[in-house]
Amino acid sequence: MNVLFLQTGGTIDKDYPRLTRGFAFEITMPAVKRILSRVSPIFNYTVKTVLRKDSTEITDKDRQNILAACISAAADKIIVTHGTDTMIETAEVLARVPDKVIILTGAMRPEKFSDSDAPFNVGVAIGALQVLRPGVYVAMNGRVYSWDKIARDHTTGQFVEKGRKK
Ligand code: GLU
Repeated sequence: MNVLFLQTGGTIDKDYPRLTRGFAFEITMPAVKRILSRVSPIFNYTVKTVLRKDSTEITDKDRQNILAACISAAADKIIVTHGTDTMIETAEVLARVPDKVIILTGAMRPEKFSDSDAPFNVGVAIGALQVLRPGVYVAMNGRVYSWDKIARDHTTGQFVEKGRKK
């Protein structure tokens, strides 16, 4: 199995990297590299950076670049790490990619934090990647939904199935 991980930014990759004069998060190295280095995966993978942005700052042009990276990828299994605020918008754009399984995931707390949900979310995405038919999905909060079946509960921040509660 060959998997391509595309970094676009978001909280999953946020950190306080500066030793002095740092006061805000910066988006740094892809967290998936650290997560995978701890678990000896039995598959081939490549990690590529497309963007390093908070997802509220992702533009239409950025989304076209993510789309192009998915279309041109040799791998037919792709995990896109992304900020949660506009994950569903990007998923909708990626729905144009034919014949590939694409899963977007991210985290509510940086992978660098000990209470981060990042390793769990990436693990759920990797598991789902192996059993899903081609299409675009979002893996968050322990569930995996097709991009057109998912909504955000703005009270809890959870990703839920459209029209249903949990
Ligand atoms: N503003 C952040 C973003 O969407 C929200 C936290 C997160 O990354 O999920 O990038």
